[in-house]
Amino acid sequence: MQSEVNARGEVRVLRPGSAREAVTMARRWGGTYIAGASWLQPVWERDQCWPRCLVALDPRWPGFRGIERAERGLVIGALTTLDELSRHPLIHDYLPALPELLKLVAGPGVRRLGTVAGNLCAGGDLSALFLSLDARLDLVGCDGPESKSLAAGYIASQGVDLIQSITLPDSRLWRIAVDKLGHRERFSPTRATVACVHGGDRLRLAVCGEGGPRRLPITEAALNDGHSRSDVDRARLLASELESCGWQDPTLRLAIQRMVDYLLAEVGHDD
Ligand SMILES: Cc1cc2nc3c(=O)[nH]c(=O)nc-3n(C[C@H](O)[C@H](O)[C@H](O)COP(=O)(O)OP(=O)(O)OC[C@H]3O[C@@H](n4cnc5c(N)ncnc54)[C@H](O)[C@@H]3O)c2cc1C
Repeated sequence: MQSEVNARGEVRVLRPGSAREAVTMARRWGGTYIAGASWLQPVWERDQCWPRCLVALDPRWPGFRGIERAERGLVIGALTTLDELSRHPLIHDYLPALPELLKLVAGPGVRRLGTVAGNLCAGGDLSALFLSLDARLDLVGCDGPESKSLAAGYIASQGVDLIQSITLPDSRLWRIAVDKLGHRERFSPTRATVACVHGGDRLRLAVCGEGGPRRLPITEAALNDGHSRSDVDRARLLASELESCGWQDPTLRLAIQRMVDYLLAEVGHDD
């Protein structure tokens, strides 16, 4: 069966009654999950090409919306909107850098529609921060629930597994800094967002935007092994790591290098 159509009217929207049913439907019909549609919709309109089948996700399914404190950290329902995230007291307590970042993500109307999982699957601005925090995805699959590291490549593969929630470790004592470079501050695709997390003994670095969402393990290792490398060597290493993982624009790589320098100072690296 053809999986795409050229007219909006030919799209079939399936409304499953549960998360498991959604997974079964997506597998059987080759359907695309749809949450706030704020990323999908503009892409379809631009390309004048729609999926034949959509599987509508429902925030009323248990565990899919809201934020809870758990032993392993904070559990964020996948269909929690960006607006809810930016206002939630637990986020202000655990992760004050996040509401600051969200002020730079789209405008209020889009933040009321867009969801956390939708943002991560689209490689949006949250990806860099959540990757650097070692976020885990709680998935509903055909074979039951499963937990996977965000860094394990779910974003790139986008399988039929459904994200139910995202678990962030308790980062209250960590130093966290994020910076975004866009064409304009809002209403434009991100050029690059960089996040830097100092979790006590280790520093973690991730980037998202034009070159795609990535942890930067080689640069991280160089930064974590103390003073054995000069700043020039570390800058070269970062440039080559970025290039090898898809960041082809040299001007943008230079901008990211400057952002990393700024963020390292913000988290007090080398203090
Ligand atoms: C004007 C405008 C400005 C924007 N500005 C920004 C910006 O500054 N920064 C930014 O990061 N983004 C921006 N966006 C993009 C978008 O709004 C956000 O990324 C939003 O968070 C996407 O969430 P959504 O729920 O609308 O995703 P959707 O469009 O519904 O889905 C996006 C992808 O996620 C998948 N998906 C959604 N939920 C799940 C789930 N639970 N499990 C598995 N797969 C799932 C879908 O299948 C799809 O592939 C902007 C969009 C617009 C229209």
